[in-house]
Amino acid sequence: MKRTDKVLLIYTGGTIGMGCNPMTGALEPLDFIHLIDNVPEFAYLKTEVDTYQFSPPIDSSDMSPEMWVKIVKLISERYDQYDGFVVLHGTDTMAYTASALSFMLENLTKPVILTGSQLPIGQPRTDGKENLVTSIELAAAHHEDGTAMVPEVCIYFSGKLLRGNRATKQNAEMFNAFNSFNYPCLCDAGVNFVFHEHNILKPDFSKPMIPHLEIDPSVFVFSLFPGIEENIVRHMLQMPDVRSVVMRSYGSGNAPHAPWLVKHLKEACERGVVIVNISQCMAGTVEMSRYDAGYQMKETGILSGYDSTAECAVTKLMFLQAKYDNPEIIREYMKRPLCGEITI
Ligand code: ASP
Repeated sequence: MKRTDKVLLIYTGGTIGMGCNPMTGALEPLDFIHLIDNVPEFAYLKTEVDTYQFSPPIDSSDMSPEMWVKIVKLISERYDQYDGFVVLHGTDTMAYTASALSFMLENLTKPVILTGSQLPIGQPRTDGKENLVTSIELAAAHHEDGTAMVPEVCIYFSGKLLRGNRATKQNAEMFNAFNSFNYPCLCDAGVNFVFHEHNILKPDFSKPMIPHLEIDPSVFVFSLFPGIEENIVRHMLQMPDVRSVVMRSYGSGNAPHAPWLVKHLKEACERGVVIVNISQCMAGTVEMSRYDAGYQMKETGILSGYDSTAECAVTKLMFLQAKYDNPEIIREYMKRPLCGEITI
């Protein structure tokens, strides 16, 4: 595999590049130059780093499917010029972007590593420098034959490299902002990098990466809770623009024994709405046959989301809906892993 010894650093915004607004005292995104000036360590890196800034930089609460398409375009247009890509991104929606990119970059043979920080890079106790410098080194890491160590969309944070579509933001306060509850870590970055090769995807390095540039966001997410009202659920499932629904159920995929719930879910499935059952628990999988409260869900025609995160289920549906009109085809693809996102 031909190496370029270069990594492209893409800045979208997030805390890592933020500074204090003197009027309000609130953190707001700043320019890339400010960020680079705060990392003199760049000069000592073995890898050459080119930079690209989306303008204006954003708080990731403003992230959008249009922006995912722009990132995919940028990576695919420059794919051959770099050994890997690092995307600086706010932590709030990083897991959504990582999941979406994992589907939109098919047969990815190079690392795409998302990172950010809990404290801005200009602050003395920042976690941003370590996250940034380590992500660049991970994006450049390769085997002797030149192939990338981690040819996946990943999130790097606080010493752990996680599969992007398995990661979720778990902490708004501590430096270990992300966790991957249902899949082991891909690399531990301590004094040395310890890659867990058996956990890492093996793409076909002889085939090209295929970028997908369409997303259909007509998805809705709702959580079950004791006392949830029939009328609200009925209205939601009957909304004309909703093509798919992610239902966050209890435990291993359980729901209340309310005949109206079964009825409305069943009717929506029959109308062609794709409904995916994921658990409100962070860890574990949906197993609808385990309890009677889950078994009744099976009869409605809703699908198991297995051990998917909510971020992953939502973005996988958005990706599949843009490709297929037929709900049966979408259902079939939801049942299989496309890039290591579920364990079945
Ligand atoms: N609100 C920020 C963002 O997501 C939080 C962060 O970057 O950690 O952009």
